[in-house]
Amino acid sequence: MKRALYIPFDHLHRGYGALKGADKKSDLIILVESQAMINGADWHKERLFFLISSARHFAQELRDEGFHVRYLTAKNTVAGLEEIKKEFPGISFIAAEQSSYRLSRSLSEFGVEFVENDFFLTPRSLFISWASSQKSYLMENFYRKQRVRLNVLMEGDTPIGGQWNYDKDNRLPPPKNYQWPPYLEHQRDEIDREVAAELKMEATTTWATTRAGALAQLKYFIENHFEKFGPYEDAMALDSWSLHHSVISPYINNGLLHPAEVIDAACASFYKGKVPIESAEGFVRQIIGWREYINGMYWFLGEDYRNNNQLGADRPLLPLFTDPAKTQMNCVKSIVEDVKARSWVHHIPRLMVLSNLALITGTNPQEFLDWMRREFIDATDWVMVPNVIGMGVHADGGQMMSKPYAAGGAYISRMSNYCKGCVYNPKLRVGDDACPFTTLYWDFLDRHKESFVKNHRMSQQVNGLKRLSDLDELKHRAQEVLSGLEKGEI
Ligand SMILES: Cc1cc2nc3c(=O)[nH]c(=O)nc-3n(C[C@H](O)[C@H](O)[C@H](O)COP(=O)(O)OP(=O)(O)OC[C@H]3O[C@@H](n4cnc5c(N)ncnc54)[C@H](O)[C@@H]3O)c2cc1C
Ligand code: SF4
Repeated sequence: MKRALYIPFDHLHRGYGALKGADKKSDLIILVESQAMINGADWHKERLFFLISSARHFAQELRDEGFHVRYLTAKNTVAGLEEIKKEFPGISFIAAEQSSYRLSRSLSEFGVEFVENDFFLTPRSLFISWASSQKSYLMENFYRKQRVRLNVLMEGDTPIGGQWNYDKDNRLPPPKNYQWPPYLEHQRDEIDREVAAELKMEATTTWATTRAGALAQLKYFIENHFEKFGPYEDAMALDSWSLHHSVISPYINNGLLHPAEVIDAACASFYKGKVPIESAEGFVRQIIGWREYINGMYWFLGEDYRNNNQLGADRPLLPLFTDPAKTQMNCVKSIVEDVKARSWVHHIPRLMVLSNLALITGTNPQEFLDWMRREFIDATDWVMVPNVIGMGVHADGGQMMSKPYAAGGAYISRMSNYCKGCVYNPKLRVGDDACPFTTLYWDFLDRHKESFVKNHRMSQQVNGLKRLSDLDELKHRAQEVLSGLEKGEI
């Protein structure tokens, strides 16, 4: 064996990374199930199941194809590689660039040689040169460049449909009396059952653990959900856990799907006339815009970015995040229950309910980040850190997003059907049945008004405080709400 190709659990694609051009005769493929990773946190079981079972399936598929494969269980990744080094002295270790600072460092110290990470559509150096030339890192500016560079939904130099962005058409609330298509279920096989037994859990049928299953999920989305994806992208509904979202983030993040094939499938459907431009553009923006931007920013902003806490938020994680029975807020309770059930909720519950709550309660950003990392099936360092620290809780002082995504109950009420069955009233900001989001939203603005008023995108919201005749009463209620949340009684 001449080369050991190390395949981390998020590079599970035959055509990309270190496996591109792999030689069945002289290459040894290494996957390491790191005990440090598995036991390093109280991970959501569904998440561990998905990551491990996908990797074991992938190793088996490579063996079936005729590769020499070692699937090791070791104390940590480097310990696994040490075993190979002892057995094959002089072998060279190759891997694609890793997706976290920590693993990049430890593998590089071990002597692994890196090839380019082509699991994204944008080389890191290209993103860094774009970001270095910007005054503010507006995603929209990056996205337009991506459309042109990758030639996606373009007619020459012009965006198809004449507009770059159809965001304003993508804000409908959940429809009434609507039949959501059934969810695609993924049947369990022998490898799945073995992993689930080791983890002492019963896996749901929500997540595929093979490339075939991931491709089936993509096809199912394109055929059943893509058309309505755009208009209902921001809606939240009690009667559907995924609405018209694609539910493919775990697969693009662990390599079972590549973003290029997702874009190809989406564009093919659009060109066949099956989906309107607001859905096609909205989806493409997520994949070539947001996803690439977030990865680029992770590397651009540096390793210390995760430790930001510029709003000085020091409240410990609220009990309702780990136990939904600790809240009466219908929106939060049902979203945390969904997270517990399948380790996933879509973008708006993550941003406008969970992160918004952490933001306006002044929850410590690192505690909240750790919780999100543990609970979500698609969480890895590169994607969670900018999404939580920058977008979710504005802990970076506006480095990434020019204003915090803070909102009161009115937003949640408009975009969901949670409020009808809630003990609180989204329209009220004071009194026992005031919506905690509404009370805390104003209290948050008041607490940070000196710094926010200098931000022209926030000044209108902050000036709204002047119209509140009951500000003192509101501040008193906010203290009651915060202490009730800490006790798990609100
Ligand atoms: C606080 C917070 C934490 C998040 N954590 C993660 C995470 O750990 N992992 C993760 O993959 N996404 C994360 N996201 C982004 C987004 O919420 C998920 O990608 C999306 O909900 C996944 O569901 P979907 O596949 O149905 O996505 P769709 O709504 O169908 O969108 C299609 C794809 O676009 C990509 N995408 C869209 N927005 C983003 C984004 N902001 N960052 C990265 N990719 C994006 C994803 O690959 C997604 O699969 C987070 C967002 C917020 C606000
Ligand atoms: S009233 Fe407030 S707490 Fe209750 S569901 Fe609506 S937004 Fe959530």
